[in-house]
Amino acid sequence: MKTDLPYGIIASSKTRVRCLCCGVYIPKANKCIEQHTNGAKHKENIELMNENAIRFSNGKMHCKLCKRVLSEEDSVTYHIESDDHANFMAALEDLVDGEFISLDPYLACEKDEVHCEVCNKNIYCSLKQIQEHVNDLYHRFQITERLKPLNGLFPAANNTEVWCKVCKIYIQDNVLSVLDHIDEDEEHIEWFSEIEDLIDNQDVSIEPYLTNEHEAYAFCNRCQMDIVCNAQSIQSHVHSEAHLNQFGL
Ligand SMILES: [Zn+2]
Ligand SMILES: [Zn+2]
Ligand SMILES: [Zn+2]
Ligand SMILES: [Zn+2]
Ligand SMILES: [Zn+2]
Repeated sequence: MKTDLPYGIIASSKTRVRCLCCGVYIPKANKCIEQHTNGAKHKENIELMNENAIRFSNGKMHCKLCKRVLSEEDSVTYHIESDDHANFMAALEDLVDGEFISLDPYLACEKDEVHCEVCNKNIYCSLKQIQEHVNDLYHRFQITERLKPLNGLFPAANNTEVWCKVCKIYIQDNVLSVLDHIDEDEEHIEWFSEIEDLIDNQDVSIEPYLTNEHEAYAFCNRCQMDIVCNAQSIQSHVHSEAHLNQFGL
């Protein structure tokens, strides 16, 4: 009987079983159990578990993040909202923000590690180890190289500088000054926030402009046409009748 129960469900009494995902009792009849596991709420909770490093095994709920077994009374949603768990998640997300580190396989309980895409490396999932990785010089260097083409930065002829196409200035080509330009330079940040605001949900891509040094245009995927890549022309394009009509289709 035990082995027949679906994921997350344990025997409770002669007449009932308990779903640990949802924290509810269900009458012990295959039909009721099936109805429950096919329900939207149950599926939603399973999804929450996969986003929060919680897994069911040997009849118990384990939170990998908090390294503890959840009590039978603890529902998944209750645990996720608890201070310990929520604070840990927030710290983790904060730490990997903008670092090209993927938490998904870890949170889905598929791996014990998180994955750094720019270094192509797995890191054991603890705040300390991730922090160390994020501060590592090799990682900073990889991040810088990844960000250059997303920020319109191109190698200059002299090899010691990079050219910012957006700001039309040269910057020393080292991790500190490149990241400083991307994260702190007001003109640079302003250009991106203005353009990104304008193209938000407009299906306009500035990637061709940013990744090719001599490309002057952004591309509108809706109208299949080039637009000069500056705030003024993009603004008039996204407000043009031709563009807006494409959305009506
Ligand atoms: Zn359930
Ligand atoms: Zn937890
Ligand atoms: Zn890395
Ligand atoms: Zn710039
Ligand atoms: Zn358009």
